[in-house]
Amino acid sequence: MSELSELYQEVILDHNKSPRNFRKCETCNHDAEGYNPLCGDHIFVYIDLQGDTIKDISFQGSGCAISKSSASLMTSILKGKTKQEALEMFNKFHEVVTSRIGSEQDLSSLGKLAVFSGVRDYPSRVKCASLAWHTMISALKEEKSASTE
Ligand code: ZN
Repeated sequence: MSELSELYQEVILDHNKSPRNFRKCETCNHDAEGYNPLCGDHIFVYIDLQGDTIKDISFQGSGCAISKSSASLMTSILKGKTKQEALEMFNKFHEVVTSRIGSEQDLSSLGKLAVFSGVRDYPSRVKCASLAWHTMISALKEEKSASTE
């Protein structure tokens, strides 16, 4: 458990315990299914895209604390953002969880998402943290499904 205990910071625990936007969105016009076979995380992301703006975004499914809290944080951050801003956040998030070159500035612009910079030391956990993001991108691109493999 030592690997995990380092990762389970307060924000992650909080979002895992009471995930935000954890519901099916009946009015949403975009959705995708995401699966991370390495861990068994399985989520659905729903987006209500009005013009270029993400009017509503929610998720459902099951998975480990990291995948769930990442999805929860992602939905609370992306609500009200434009498609372009969502793509930019995805790129930034991806850089932070996969590389060591993320600057202090990048981390601070990510706000709470910066807690996931801790997963970069655990390649298998990177897939958990980025699953929701890959699924969100698939939903925007109308690809219907995403896999971390
Ligand atoms: Zn996981």
